[in-house]
Amino acid sequence: MKLKNEKVVVCGAGGFIGGHLVKDLLANGVNVVRAVDIKPLDEWYQTSDGVENLSLDLRDRANCQTAADGTEVVFQLAADMGGMGFIENNKALCMLSVLTNTHMLMAARQAGIERFFFSSSACVYNGEKQTNPDVVALKEEDAYPALPEDGYGWEKLFSERMCRHFEEDYGLTARVARYHNVYGPLGTYEGGREKAPAAMCRKVIEAKQSGKHEIEIWGDGHQTRSFMYIDDCTKGTQAILESDIDEPINLGSSELVTINQLVDIVEDIAGIKLERKYNLGAPKGVNGRNSDNTLIQKYMGWEPSIKLRDGMAKTYAWIESQMLATVGK
Ligand code: NAD
Repeated sequence: MKLKNEKVVVCGAGGFIGGHLVKDLLANGVNVVRAVDIKPLDEWYQTSDGVENLSLDLRDRANCQTAADGTEVVFQLAADMGGMGFIENNKALCMLSVLTNTHMLMAARQAGIERFFFSSSACVYNGEKQTNPDVVALKEEDAYPALPEDGYGWEKLFSERMCRHFEEDYGLTARVARYHNVYGPLGTYEGGREKAPAAMCRKVIEAKQSGKHEIEIWGDGHQTRSFMYIDDCTKGTQAILESDIDEPINLGSSELVTINQLVDIVEDIAGIKLERKYNLGAPKGVNGRNSDNTLIQKYMGWEPSIKLRDGMAKTYAWIESQMLATVGK
């Protein structure tokens, strides 16, 4: 593992994926010198001893330099983001992450960084290729001609291209993964930024706790998605950073389910059956999306493979423990 000999900073480390990434890098013997997030430290999902944990707003150019200086590898995961309910209603905020990505790239160049990782998203894909729940999985080339998710997806696509041009023009080695719906413990499950897997767990637990055996589902429940468990995400992220793949690459599960099937899984874990109420006016995103993993298989002979049922059981258990702790207070 090349990373073992390098000094690493993780940006967005107070968030869901960033927090897990720091832990996994440390477990792999990597020298994580710094972890950065805009949130105050007591709001981070995870912090680690022996790491300089900094609360900094990375939209600010000088703060980016503080983050990058003295390191050799940057994992740039900081972004103002959330599930569909958040990104459909906060397009300007999502696009302002362009400041963070731009300033981190500039700071990385000035600091002489060896490799830069950028967390892009499946939201960069052309919407016209995602109108049918009966999906053809998205290949990397399907991002063009460009028609990404408004706001959030456009920002990600722009920042992907900036990574590419920093590599071409300035020789900064940049690696870009397009994450497809990541889920797991120690992430957002309430407050408006949560994504479908965590939201479903929370709603099922609320129904169990209240005895009101109903669940609201956004859309008609027939929309399809794939969901990647966090352990596959952190593993793939490190492998992509270490690879020679100099084009954006899918990092996602190819286990396709409908939202109704996702609810079936959570009900099964909870041992309950709920009456489903479909909110057709709620934000629901594209009708169908899956990750084509031909490219990652070609480069690595590997793809995310943790079964949704297994990952959801762990996610449900963590969210339930958090909600029970709150009830007890
Ligand atoms: P998250 O919201 O839990 O983590 C992002 C972190 O970035 C947050 O802790 C937030 O406080 C921090 N941040 C936001 N603005 C900042 C700023 N100006 N300065 C410093 N920190 C700032 O989200 P996540 O799920 O962990 O996502 C991590 C990355 O992966 C993001 O770039 C996201 O767009 C991308 N991604 C995630 C998913 C997913 O399903 N979770 C899918 C595709 C892409």
